[in-house]
Amino acid sequence: MKNRLSHRLQNISYSQTIAMSAKARELKNKGYDIINLSLGEPDFLPPNFVLNAAKKAIDEGYHYYTPVSGYLELRKVICKKFLRDNHLTYTPSQIVVSTGAKQAIMNVLLSLLNKNDEVIIPAPYWVSYLQMVKLCESCPVVIQTTMKNNFKIHPEQLEKAITCKTKLFIFSTPCNPTGSVYSYEELKNLAEIFKKYPKIMILSDEIYEHICYSDKHTTSIAIFSDIHDQVITLNGLSKAFSMTGWRIGYIGAPEWISQSCDKIQGQMTSCANSIAQIAAISALKADPSKIGYMIKEFRKRKNLVFDLIKEINGFQLNQPDGAFYIFPKVSSFFGKKLHGKIIQNADDLSEFLLEKAQVATVSGSAFGDKECLRISYASSNEKIIEAFNRIKKVLK
Ligand code: PMP
Ligand code: GLU
Repeated sequence: MKNRLSHRLQNISYSQTIAMSAKARELKNKGYDIINLSLGEPDFLPPNFVLNAAKKAIDEGYHYYTPVSGYLELRKVICKKFLRDNHLTYTPSQIVVSTGAKQAIMNVLLSLLNKNDEVIIPAPYWVSYLQMVKLCESCPVVIQTTMKNNFKIHPEQLEKAITCKTKLFIFSTPCNPTGSVYSYEELKNLAEIFKKYPKIMILSDEIYEHICYSDKHTTSIAIFSDIHDQVITLNGLSKAFSMTGWRIGYIGAPEWISQSCDKIQGQMTSCANSIAQIAAISALKADPSKIGYMIKEFRKRKNLVFDLIKEINGFQLNQPDGAFYIFPKVSSFFGKKLHGKIIQNADDLSEFLLEKAQVATVSGSAFGDKECLRISYASSNEKIIEAFNRIKKVLK
């Protein structure tokens, strides 16, 4: 049966983050005491004012299809948000609201990519980029980074990877899974390279924008005027507002891209959920300080995780400045026998931790780095402490 599936599908794999989380859920339902640190999903409730806006939207009758790219009022609010938080100027016709950032990414890829086009992706990368590119029958070109460089690419690496087939560059800052954040200067240096290749587009995934621990605000690469028209700026409500299930993502892009995303979306899903769009208006209108309590809590948890991990030998860490993951290098365990099992790679270690410590993590292989493990700290302090105690015990 499998070979009756399209070549497109035969070529891609399941999302490993979602698969691990499903496995953890299944074991939990069977009665195992699993602590799930695999999924990148905040454990807060969305802010009350957003919940109230959604309830009001139901009562006020927002039950019907919206314009394909989203309500005009929402797109206007998104333009104001881009100006307020990112110093970016977009008009409502350059905005497309989609069913999560995932759909927004797929819209962009389907708009731009032909078979065998190349897409440059720095590794470690977010799990779905590579598979989505393959789904378009295009070729991911992965740039490997190192922990020494805090998992960020050098402009020379970028230029080396560019060929006449390069169509797109995709990256996230703050980065899932490494937490690395590109500084203004680092982005400026990358922009200098892109300026030389005006046909290459850049998909800047800024979904973790507000979850940033450095004093400086994150920078959007689209602020560099020479390359502004090459950039698609992506964001969404899943992380900052803890609204993963509401499925709202959006882009600001040159009009030829926003129009083509609108065309695709009009055929695929018609529009994003109407109630969630009304809630998004209130979320994005609000000053970012309204979600400061979540960021404060993530910062505390990051510090807690750093303290706890120091007590475990063999985990090597970079300095994450954003998002809510740590991505330790765990290769010192490779080749070692733990509780009768030889650990060959990060997949084995992740399996081992699930089996013996009942803690779910995700192997770095999902993100293009086989030596690391991703651990999400979007979980309560109690769960984090218990999880690290268990990990320490089984790795002793
Ligand atoms: N980009 C990154 C870097 C992510 O971590 C996620 C998390 N799922 C997404 C995009 C997709 O987000 P959404 O829930 O809005 O589809
Ligand atoms: N972005 C989250 C993660 O990386 C959610 C899972 C997913 O969408 O793949 O865990």
